[in-house]
Amino acid sequence: MTSLPHLFLSAAQTSPEEPFIHFEGTAYSYSDLHAHVSRAAGSLRAWGLQKGERVALYLENSPSFVAAYLGTLWLGGVVVLVNTRYKETELRYILGDSGAKLVVTDAERIGNLEGVLGDSIDVTEIGQSLAQDDEVWQRFAPHPPLTEPAAISSDDLAVIAYTSGTTGRAKGATLTHSNFVSNSRAVTRAWGWTAADHLLLALPLFHMHGLGVGLHGTLLQGSMITLKRTFDAAEVLSELRRGHVTMFFGVPTTVSRLLSEARRSETHALRLLVSGSAPLSPQVMEQAEQTFGLRILERYGMTETVMNLGNPLHGERKAGSVGVPFEGVEVRIVNEGGQTVKWGEVGELQVRGSNVTKGYWNKPAETEASFVDGWFKTGDLGLQDEDGYYYLTGRAKDLIITGGFNVYPREIEEVLAQHNAVREVAVLGLPDDDLGEKVVAVVVAAEEVPPSELQALCKERLAGFKKPKEVYFVDELPRNALGKVQKHVLRERLEV
Ligand code: AMP
Repeated sequence: MTSLPHLFLSAAQTSPEEPFIHFEGTAYSYSDLHAHVSRAAGSLRAWGLQKGERVALYLENSPSFVAAYLGTLWLGGVVVLVNTRYKETELRYILGDSGAKLVVTDAERIGNLEGVLGDSIDVTEIGQSLAQDDEVWQRFAPHPPLTEPAAISSDDLAVIAYTSGTTGRAKGATLTHSNFVSNSRAVTRAWGWTAADHLLLALPLFHMHGLGVGLHGTLLQGSMITLKRTFDAAEVLSELRRGHVTMFFGVPTTVSRLLSEARRSETHALRLLVSGSAPLSPQVMEQAEQTFGLRILERYGMTETVMNLGNPLHGERKAGSVGVPFEGVEVRIVNEGGQTVKWGEVGELQVRGSNVTKGYWNKPAETEASFVDGWFKTGDLGLQDEDGYYYLTGRAKDLIITGGFNVYPREIEEVLAQHNAVREVAVLGLPDDDLGEKVVAVVVAAEEVPPSELQALCKERLAGFKKPKEVYFVDELPRNALGKVQKHVLRERLEV
């Protein structure tokens, strides 16, 4: 078992001149990145970063993200991942909760930190180019490069990744080097990933799919990434047409946008098309097969566990199924009475293995509540078929997944409830062809208010994807005997 910086160092020593990241027309080799990581780490050392201290990365995808990420880990620092769309409310909470001492951000986002940072948090702005970043790091804290990483044990913390809780309070899932490395070994082995693979990565690096699968798998295999700032269907397609890319990982929304952009008889070298993070419809699976001649490999993971299940590389990839456990991951399905059920019966999926978080940062009660006898409770409902394949049937938790982004209604409800005209509010997800689900708010108004005003309030306080696409007004919200809003009743009414 080894650490993430040691994986990277080993790739940089074994194949220094091999391409690592291709970004906006420039190719960076493993040794290029090694030089930049060493300089970032030198400055972080001079600045005073100690092992175990947290550095928040509030940065979009670019080689600068990768250098700052590895530079922090180089010293045994812990990276706090921050969704780039987060704004004031989310930033204040995450930075406070994680106790981050430094935020590394870019020009587009630095303004959002105004008024959020207290005296105890420092900030530095990078992200123009790796060469310019070197100068920024030197000005920030001058120091010679550190070419070797610190002593890091596999049980040391690497990342805190925030996942919103059902109660609306975000929880920081803590992930160790061993969680990541063991899972990355299992995933790369399962997918036949080698140094010859070329991954097109347009998923955000602040999320497990982009970071824990895409970046870490690449480091482990010493392979190559073409990295995109964001997903753009036309750009991705033209990249595929160039015939170098062998793997593309997306969420159902990106895959279906890619399909609308593409035509039959595409020329490409893709061997692996992966989808996950939200339910994939059988139609998209079929269209992908017609367009690219490839059957999508659907996988299932989460922030707290990186990857749990996936359809097999060789063998049947069943539509609607999230496949079978990755090596080192055990899965069971448990009913409400706490009994493990047999195949065909629905219950909560629980997982155990070296991939699973040890718990939430600073939240012993939530951590305890998330485990039972050493099994992690995913909150996802599902079943297993006779062949051992798993299917997700719903979520025990009240989560909306819109365009691959997770949204917990409570957070939006809290913002809307602050508006004078809002007496009561319920937020839920409704089916949407493009996004999978769209965010919708149902409001009991105390006085007349235009929907656009409520949407603007959300936009101002929260990430754009959390803004309700629609606002409906009702006289009262349906509630059960315990006073809990019956969202399923609302959903039925709105879907009609
Ligand atoms: P996150 O922590 O953002 O990675 O979100 C994890 C959640 O996404 C899981 O608990 C599931 O509810 C959902 N999810 C992940 N993969 C899939 C999939 N293939 N199909 C349906 N839902 C998924």
